Amino acid sequence: MASPTIKLNSGYEMPQVGFGLWKVDNAVCADTVYNAIKAGYRLFDGACDYGNEKECGEGVARAIKEGLVKREDLFIVSKLWQTFHDVDKVEPITRRQLADWQIDYFDLFLIHFPAALEYVDPSVRYPPGWFYDGESEVRWSKTTLQQTWGAMEKLVDAGLARSIGISNYQAQSVYEALIYSRIRPATLQIEHHPYLQQPDLVNLAQKEGITVTAYSSFGPTGFMELDMPRAKSAAPLMDSPVIKEIASKHGKTPAQVLLRWATQRGLAVIPKTNRPEIMAQNLDSVNFNLDSGDLAKIADMDLNIRFNKPTNYFSADKLY
Ligand code: NAD
Repeated sequence: MASPTIKLNSGYEMPQVGFGLWKVDNAVCADTVYNAIKAGYRLFDGACDYGNEKECGEGVARAIKEGLVKREDLFIVSKLWQTFHDVDKVEPITRRQLADWQIDYFDLFLIHFPAALEYVDPSVRYPPGWFYDGESEVRWSKTTLQQTWGAMEKLVDAGLARSIGISNYQAQSVYEALIYSRIRPATLQIEHHPYLQQPDLVNLAQKEGITVTAYSSFGPTGFMELDMPRAKSAAPLMDSPVIKEIASKHGKTPAQVLLRWATQRGLAVIPKTNRPEIMAQNLDSVNFNLDSGDLAKIADMDLNIRFNKPTNYFSADKLY
């Protein structure tokens, strides 16, 4: 089973259904990546901040060594963490991340959040997280997004990234990026589920030829693992009567409906699971169509609730 692909504005084809790597424990990460490749996944969505890029690289290396795939069959995505936004820090950290993955280019490299933090040397702490001292102190850098984007463009020039993109940008930062970019962002990765539909942002990006990738397609479910009160108090989308009814009508699971709702709007999705049978189910979510009645019912579910806010990670009680 293979995912359909979307042609990016950089000319490269990106799988529409990929595999997310956030919160994949180091102990099982290499096996998870290897099993996901076996299940048919070709896109992997990683990040420095996930703290598991070395293990991801081990999973990829094993699959390549065993002849399951070649490097060029894979589409490997990673992200620049906020402490590396200063212009002279972008290329060195990208090279380190590539070394962790045991590859020599990323298919797509994203600015993880539109916020620059003061540099923390990897020898002090890696991944560095939000806090300068590793405890509670947030120190902002004065580097602008435009400056960081210039350094991202140089990664493409140097062959270290084939495509570059942005994540967690809102409309105004997207508009600005369109003005200052020499190389346009190929993708915009955002939180996107029926409780946070963001139609204006999605339309803006798609109209400008930027492919949108949805993360946390299952809404609160992905954040329960963090014990986040906001997520625990929201009704799980997979238990929603509306989603369950649509799922049973099409003979699919609620998870497949949530993924198909996004891919039918032209977005890419990157669900995460450790279980091989669920991997297959999520990958096999593009072979049916929701009808206009289904789409209207899901449109009515928008609550504009965001779970992945930076302030969640550095407010006094860390998560709310
Ligand atoms: P997700 O929406 O993929 O949900 C994951 C949870 O859903 C897990 O608990 C998993 O066990 C469960 N699940 C998955 N498939 C299921 C199925 N078919 N049936 C029942 N349960 C199922 O959560 P996520 O990890 O928040 O997001 C996915 C990926 O998006 C991440 O791994 C990461 O790669 C990316 N992401 C990016 C950002 C960013 O800032 N750019 C932020 C969050 C996530």
